[in-house]
Amino acid sequence: MYRCAKCKERVMGDINNVGIQCTVCGSKMFYKERPNVKKEIKNQ
Ligand SMILES: [Zn+2]
Repeated sequence: MYRCAKCKERVMGDINNVGIQCTVCGSKMFYKERPNVKKEIKNQ
């Protein structure tokens, strides 16, 4: 999962694909969204 660097829209697909861009703002800059950004720790 990735997010647009501009509008923070979630981007589906592989950013390694040439030509992929944000469907909202058209940006081609993305960053990888980490699943554990929140400081929530669950003991399982
Ligand atoms: Zn965007």
